[in-house]
Formats: sequence, structure tokens, C-alpha cells
Amino acid sequence: MRITPYGAAQTVTGSCHLVETFSKGGYKLILDCGAYQGAEDDRNAQPFGFEPNTVNAVVISHAHHDHIGRLPILIRRGYRGQIYLSEPTLRFLPVILEDSLRLMTEEHERGERSGRKIPELLWDQADLNELYQRLEPVPLHQELAFGPFTLRLRGAGHLPGSAFIEVREGKQCLIFSGDLGNRSKEVLPDPEDPPSADLVLCEGTYGDRPHRPFDETIAEFAQVLGEHLSQGGKVFIPSFALERAQEVLYHLRELEQQNKIPSVPVYVDSPMADKISEIYPQVKRYFSPEVQALYDQGIDPFRPRQLRHTHTVDESKALGDLSGPLVIVAGNGMLSGGRILHHLRYGLSDPKNALVITGYQPRGGLGRILLEGAERVRMFGEEVRVKAQTYTLGGFSGHAGQDELLDWLKGENRVALVHGEPEKLQTLARALGSRGQTAQVAEWGKPIEV
Ligand SMILES: [Zn+2]
Repeated sequence: MRITPYGAAQTVTGSCHLVETFSKGGYKLILDCGAYQGAEDDRNAQPFGFEPNTVNAVVISHAHHDHIGRLPILIRRGYRGQIYLSEPTLRFLPVILEDSLRLMTEEHERGERSGRKIPELLWDQADLNELYQRLEPVPLHQELAFGPFTLRLRGAGHLPGSAFIEVREGKQCLIFSGDLGNRSKEVLPDPEDPPSADLVLCEGTYGDRPHRPFDETIAEFAQVLGEHLSQGGKVFIPSFALERAQEVLYHLRELEQQNKIPSVPVYVDSPMADKISEIYPQVKRYFSPEVQALYDQGIDPFRPRQLRHTHTVDESKALGDLSGPLVIVAGNGMLSGGRILHHLRYGLSDPKNALVITGYQPRGGLGRILLEGAERVRMFGEEVRVKAQTYTLGGFSGHAGQDELLDWLKGENRVALVHGEPEKLQTLARALGSRGQTAQVAEWGKPIEV
């Protein structure tokens, strides 16, 4: 068999890989079908690099948009087979793709109103409905046979139900890592060890460095919360709706239980995060033993004492009139849009307040500008004076750091690297090479023989 990357090659988005065999009449399998995001999102409109109607099956590693976001395009362009995924991924997928459709449609309508010539939408609700007919949940570890292949999903510890994928044909074994979780975090189980394979296609998002120890991150989180809440301040935490928002709630609850922070109202100002949180109890066996134990005692691990939700935009705006101490968790995590911006517009000028960043901030984005110490920023056409403090807590990353990647790959002979910036993948390839493993940085459209 052979594998060809058609996405996430020397970049972190657009995960999509074609596995082919030429025996028994030939068979084609796609591992992930993710969207390109950020500066690269125009690549979503381009051809896949293979013919969707010649693909026999699709297997998905996890529900992040950069691993599922091109599935509706695959359907629109003629794919008519099944899509295999874990049960939690099956449940999260509609929430993610329907939000994506809403954002895409809103942007399209804004474009139309402005009178600009705008391209057709890449997909619509009909494609999504067709896609839903093709989803097929698969338990982790269960062996599945497709044509000449046998497949297995194994726990990757990156999202509830996230998987790495084992593909076997005869005696050959290929592993695709998907995204591997950060072992030192508490909410999800550790990634399972991979079997020894002929080739591992492995992510390298943090291929160049280890993460800061997680207990240090949580200690700093407690300190920042304590300092600002005791002054009556508001703490704003921009978060992605899937996993990070709930993880923040988990630690707020834990810190409150341990009396390390005062109990204050915690507002989740994200209808999408609420939808994901509603799914969590239905997939509780996909969490760490600690989280499962809390569920077994009848405790919601993701519910601080004074948890509140906003539903409408008016309710969200009304949060601006409340006085602290309080915490607001809102989207989006990269500060490129969403309700968090309205809170910052009114909240950044108060020195009692804090912005706590738990995720990656792109260069030139508002989060990065605030972290660099800007005294003024422009928001919604107005100048806002920045008096609030901004903190970044690096250890929250949902990906394995370099040390964990090296440990995960220790029993493997041959590795091809994807899902990372080129320098990070090269650093990881050198680290693997220095201990005698064969490692290469994979390229778009270039087949690698297993
Ligand atoms: Zn991911």
C-alpha cells in the first residue's frame, strides 16, 4: 500500500490523506477530510488531488474542523461511500459543521449585500444531510474489514473519542496519528501506545519543543484568577467551543473545590460550547479515569458552582453591565470574531480585569497584539485604551509536545511527518534521525510507499 498527503503537508490545517492498494483490483481509503483554515482557507475550493467518486471509504480521526471540514465538499464532488468515525466524533460533527455552514452563509450574505462579486458557496445543507446518511460509528479497538484492508481506531487523547488509525493490508501496517493529545493534562486519557508499524504518518504540531509542565500552568491560572477576582475584576477567557471551553470549566471547578479561588459567577457565553457540553455526559467513558469517577459520583466535572449560560445576543450584551468579580468564557478562541470581542471592547480599559489566553494566537491577531503589550487597540471602529492585564497560559495545548511525540514514536523504524510548520517538522525529523530512526517530512501529493 501507499499513502499520499492531500492536506496538512507542512502546514497545520486541511488534514487529508489517501491510502491506496493495487492488489485485488485496487482500493482507496481517505484518512480525514479536513478544511484548510486561516490564511490558507482559499485552498478548500481547489481540487482534492484525487477523484472523490473513486474513493471506497473514509475514516475520520476526530471532530476538529481541520480534520472534518471538507467532508461536505467531498460529498458534493461525488463521494458516495461510508464515513467511519468514533461515537463521540459522530456526535460532535454536526455541531461543528452546522456552525461552519452558519458562518459561511453569513459571510456570503454580507458579501452579497456589499455588491461584490462573490464565489458560490462550497457546500450547503443538502450536502450536509447527504453526509449524515453516510456516518457509521465504530467502537475504539474494534477491527473493521474494508476490501483488502483491516482498520482499527485507537485512543489518541486529544478530544473525547479522538483516535489514531491503524491500517493493515496482509503483513503491512500503517499508522496515522491524527492529532495526539497532551499527556500531562487531566481531562482526557493518555494516547495509547502504537503497535510497531512499517510506516507511521505522524503529526508534529509541536515537533520543536516540549510544553511547560501542566501543574505550573494551573498554578499560574489560580494566581491570576485569585488576583483579579479578589479586586472585583472580570476575567475573560477566549475559548474554542469544543474541548477547551469545557476544560477551562473543569479547572475552575477544581480550583474552587480546593479553595484556591473564590466561587464567583462563571458565564459561558457561547451557544456552541453549550451544545458540546450537553454531549459530554453521553460520552463519559471517553474521559480520563478521574473525570469518569466524578461522573460516577453524580458530580458534573465541568460545572463550577455558579455556572450561568447566555442564550441570546441581548443576554450576552447585558453581561457588560454586570460588575465583577466574575468570569466570562466566550468564543472564539483566536479572537478573530465572536462574542468575546464585545466583552473586550468594554472590559479592556479597566485595570482590575484580565484576559487569560489558553490557546494559539496567530501573528497580527488581537491576542498577539495584546500579549505584546499594546496600550491602545482598535475595535469596532473605535480606539480602546488597554489597562487590563493579558496573560498567556501555554500549557493548555491539546497536542503532544516534542518529548511526548518522541516517546510515542520510540518503537518505530520509519516515520513521515505531517500537520506542522516546516521548521517544526524538520526539527522533529532530526531528533528522530539522531536516534537512528528514518524520518521524512511529507509533501503534498507525493506518495510514500509503505
Ligand atoms: Zn485536532
